[in-house]
Amino acid sequence: MPRADCKQCGGTGWISSEERDGISSVQRCACVAEVQLEEAETRAGIPLNYRQASFETFLLPTDNPVLQRALADVMLAVSSFARTYPKTAKPGLLLVGPPGTGKTHLAVAALRSLMARGHEGMFFDYQNLLERIRAGYSEALGAANRDAYRTVLETELLLLDDLGSHRVTDWVEDTVTAIVTHRCNHRKPTIVTTNLPDPDMGSATVEKGGVGAPPRFKTTLEERVGERARSRLFEMCKVIRMPNANDYRIRPHRSTQ
Ligand SMILES: [Zn+2]
Repeated sequence: MPRADCKQCGGTGWISSEERDGISSVQRCACVAEVQLEEAETRAGIPLNYRQASFETFLLPTDNPVLQRALADVMLAVSSFARTYPKTAKPGLLLVGPPGTGKTHLAVAALRSLMARGHEGMFFDYQNLLERIRAGYSEALGAANRDAYRTVLETELLLLDDLGSHRVTDWVEDTVTAIVTHRCNHRKPTIVTTNLPDPDMGSATVEKGGVGAPPRFKTTLEERVGERARSRLFEMCKVIRMPNANDYRIRPHRSTQ
């Protein structure tokens, strides 16, 4: 389908090129492929607020050169994964870091650039995915949700956003382990983001308490998804820790927390 208001082709989807030897030829307008890609991104479940996410639209901070450099390195690592695909050393990417560090933007940028090259991909928000899989077990809630589970196993590229953002039950742990193991065993590329700290990533897992309060232990990735899924993920993925402003504070800053 061409774009109805396209200025190049007037919505016909065809552009005629210069006449040569009395014969003019027509060719497909670029808007046809653009519309196809937009439709594929809708089917892939990419949320509207990430539809423009690309490496070009990833903004680096200008007020903190050290953080800027660290984020630029991370962006290069993710874009090099996308560029090298499918010949990447590991089939997956795991982006670890606190909220607001740009994990999802970079993950979607990688997915979109691969989809633009004709690869098939799906975006799933972890919590929403688990709800859909669970609903798929109840007869009343139709086959669409049952298909979510199959899609997550079978799609060429899976982006699983916000892994572990859900309270733990045996069912959740088993489901996540099954998905990760299946994709790992079949070397199916999987891009995962998570807010949860992991001690192997150098993330702090203990937080200072307030005055007179004991330290708090943060929930780790392993506690949320289980040891097996966590170790398969580390096997399958190039693990990238997102730099964040707290690691690269320029001036001493008195925290209010
Ligand atoms: Zn056009």
